Amino acid sequence: MKNIFFFLFTSITFCQTEDKLPNIILMIGDGMGLSHISAGMYANNNSTILEEFEYVGLSKTHSLNYLVTDSAASGTAMASGFKTFNRVVGIDENNMKPKSILEICKEKKYDVGLVVTSEIVHATPACFYAKIPSRYDYEDIALQLSEHNVDLFVGGGKDYFNKRKDKRNLLEEMSNYTFVNNFEEFKNSTSKKIGFFTYPSKPPPKDLGRKPSLDDLTQESLKKISQKKPFFMMIEGSQIDWGAHDNSLSYVLSEFKEFDLAISKALEFAKADGNTLVIVTADHETGGLSLSGGNVKKSRIKADFSTGGHSGSMVPVFSYGPNSELFSGIYENTAIFDKMLKAIEN
Ligand code: MG
Ligand code: ZN
Repeated sequence: MKNIFFFLFTSITFCQTEDKLPNIILMIGDGMGLSHISAGMYANNNSTILEEFEYVGLSKTHSLNYLVTDSAASGTAMASGFKTFNRVVGIDENNMKPKSILEICKEKKYDVGLVVTSEIVHATPACFYAKIPSRYDYEDIALQLSEHNVDLFVGGGKDYFNKRKDKRNLLEEMSNYTFVNNFEEFKNSTSKKIGFFTYPSKPPPKDLGRKPSLDDLTQESLKKISQKKPFFMMIEGSQIDWGAHDNSLSYVLSEFKEFDLAISKALEFAKADGNTLVIVTADHETGGLSLSGGNVKKSRIKADFSTGGHSGSMVPVFSYGPNSELFSGIYENTAIFDKMLKAIEN
């Protein structure tokens, strides 16, 4: 009798531990420094959803070989926990290819997803599933995604899959996936593996009509991926960076506004769910943006860019949910990986 009780007790304890593995939503605003957030906040009636997060930290973004990183090296740092050279995706200085947090989650039976407003093979999402010396080898990155086991992905860049130099049609090879052609089909699909190419190549800026919106995609993707828990989802506001490279404040503001709405959808989900860790950060600052004036009451901003490239400023990290306290303080961008790992091992 005693043994049976012991067995029941340990089984229940075990099940509870399994149930407790938190969902993780990692949201990356590419190029989103503190000035981009400040500008977006003042332009939006002095308000951003980031004010509702529980903890704030700062991340040092330098790469292995440069003080100013690119999205490949910093994406690798956050996805896999090591510093590497600019342009390199997922490979370290000794040519090793450690697993990304997405891959580690997958091994722990998480469902995993990627939702971006760039091409799905662009550097930031690639860091979660690809290992390649150059971030610009998009067709090779597409091939690696086709051989991966990402459960849900949304982004542009379909041409890298079916209009290739090697004449392969990866969409046909990915026979376990359902590919949907529009948001209605995406919403209606109940497929376990789903790919949604929003554009054949690079998605346009929000201001030029990019659809569907990242907030709608975030809400719908979370609905889908949370059918089975736990899950890991990376959502990127990819074009905040592109607006800053163009030194266009209006481009930055419109992309940030959409990203802020997407964050509010993720936070809404996390608040209702109770076991979801949400992390919002950037891979680096872009444009050397500074707020030099404006009018708070009129939500008007005056801002100046100091470079057409990236800068080396630390970027903020906002966190909410179980283990969110891990993300306060000042640390290397590689620690974002360490902290996510700790969150799923706690
Ligand atoms: Mg990016
Ligand atoms: Zn950039």
